[in-house]
Amino acid sequence: MDLFSLLEKHDYGGVHIGRDAASGMCCIVAIHDTRLGPAIGGCRFLPYADERDAVIDALRLARGMTYKAALAGLPHGGGKTVMLRPDKLFDRAALFRAFGRFIDGLGGRYFTAEDSGTGIEDMEIVRGVTRQVVGTGGGSGDPSPFTALGVRRGIEACVKMRLGKSSLEGIHVAVQGVGHVGYHLCKELHEQGATLSVADVDPLKAERAQREHGATVVPIERIFDVACDVLAPCALGSALNDDTIPRIRSTIVAGAANNQLAEPRHGDDLHSRGILYAPDYAINAGGLINVALELQGYDPDKARAKTMTVYDTIYEIAERSKASLTPTYRVADLMVEERLARASE
Ligand code: NAD
Repeated sequence: MDLFSLLEKHDYGGVHIGRDAASGMCCIVAIHDTRLGPAIGGCRFLPYADERDAVIDALRLARGMTYKAALAGLPHGGGKTVMLRPDKLFDRAALFRAFGRFIDGLGGRYFTAEDSGTGIEDMEIVRGVTRQVVGTGGGSGDPSPFTALGVRRGIEACVKMRLGKSSLEGIHVAVQGVGHVGYHLCKELHEQGATLSVADVDPLKAERAQREHGATVVPIERIFDVACDVLAPCALGSALNDDTIPRIRSTIVAGAANNQLAEPRHGDDLHSRGILYAPDYAINAGGLINVALELQGYDPDKARAKTMTVYDTIYEIAERSKASLTPTYRVADLMVEERLARASE
């Protein structure tokens, strides 16, 4: 593997590679940037085709965490761990204890958390050997309601900016995916008087949104064709692509899903079509805000108040985009780069 050119490509100073012979633990801890504070980012435990793919995933995801934390105004940089699955039988608790000992030796530069393939129970084990972990059982709890609150606030900012309305009363939102975040988002929007259309591959989840929040259920392949005020992608990544963008019948796209743009050029496409896109990592930061506040002595009221400020972030992005005729995804990146540059002065 050409490790150093990978570091150069992803703009890194260093990566930590951990190994523990007794447990079989092997991990890659990518710490992208600590100018704003210690890095924060989850630990993935998924199958990878090879070590190179695992390293690239860690580098890519940690960089994304730097951007998300910086734009959310958190005193944190971005990090991510990819733990490799041993190819022999293994003791899961021993793996996570070894991982905890490893990150404990990184001088306080990195806080881990649960991520795809890991859960609260794993983080409790990590917590047994280090304080460098957030999101354990006694901490901030399920992040989804906070993510949803932030998305609702981001939608409000877009509606104010694009439609000139200060309320969501009568605003029609089409939500793709009503899982953890989508469910709570529908609740938030329904409480604010919005009208909902929803689609989910799991009919039970769509029916729950219909029953509890008065949503109209739409077949999954029709959700991008719904004439509405706001389209909210809350399912998988790459929802905004060559197939879906021409079908969008709203002037706002604002949802929770990570990596919504299949490629950066799709952000340009939305911009040139006059669609206001709320950059994913800016609007879905509520869960990260919530978990990061554990490090300041967790208080749900403070987490809620801080998450409410997603409105201001999205509004500023939209304003700057309008003034500079620049796509919102680029404006968000520029705002982060300005903050990081100021921190290094
Ligand atoms: P989830 O798995 O609970 O929900 C996703 C839902 O989308 C599921 O109900 C699934 O059935 C549905 N779905 C999948 N493919 C679909 C399709 N083609 N059409 C319609 N529905 C489809 O996940 P979640 O925790 O709610 O997260 C949703 C998105 O938000 C993900 O992209 C996630 O990375 C992102 N996100 C989540 C959080 C959080 O706090 N959970 C924070 C930031 C970002």
